[in-house]
Amino acid sequence: MRPILLPTVLTACVATTATTPPAEADADTITEIAAPSAPAAPDRTPTPPCAQLPVGEPPGQGYRVAQGFGTNRHLGEDWNGVGGGNTDLGDPVYAMADGVVSAAHDFRGGWGRVVRIEHRFTLENGVEAFESLYAHLDDIAVELDQRVERGQRIGSIGDAHGAYIAHLHLEVRDVLRLPLGPGYASDPSGYIDPRAWVAAHRSGCPPG
Ligand SMILES: [Zn+2]
Repeated sequence: MRPILLPTVLTACVATTATTPPAEADADTITEIAAPSAPAAPDRTPTPPCAQLPVGEPPGQGYRVAQGFGTNRHLGEDWNGVGGGNTDLGDPVYAMADGVVSAAHDFRGGWGRVVRIEHRFTLENGVEAFESLYAHLDDIAVELDQRVERGQRIGSIGDAHGAYIAHLHLEVRDVLRLPLGPGYASDPSGYIDPRAWVAAHRSGCPPG
């Protein structure tokens, strides 16, 4: 599934209306008016994306995916500590990329505490937008609308108030602001494989 490409916002460059200099203005003043400094343009410098896995230090180490994307119509990945059982309860969960928190709430039921983060990568030809979702958390360490950085702790692995053995249910979506969702569905439209997404968005990561 291809990520959606939002067109680059075309910011209208409104020309500064040149005012006719007063007749008695001296040469220096006329020069100043005729050549106004350009207004500050919005920064559209491409920023190559950098994404990472949400558990482990370094990312991924000490964890395994117990149920992958697409298995049993699963819309995400279930990350467990290699120690099994609840050995990963309370382990840190990290933001997969820079972004803005779009949900930080205890939905109870099968979801428990959930954090959602919107990510936007500025490319040469537009902006790629994604959302990552972290569910069943034991605690939430961020707030709605908070700007977060890749690798920042956003919460910890939980069990959705005792509903499951502790694990992280992780989703990556290429359609923003979908409902919380069913976690499983025969139609995965809007959802993408989290590990494939990370692998495809490493060009902006620091070396090493
Ligand atoms: Zn799951």
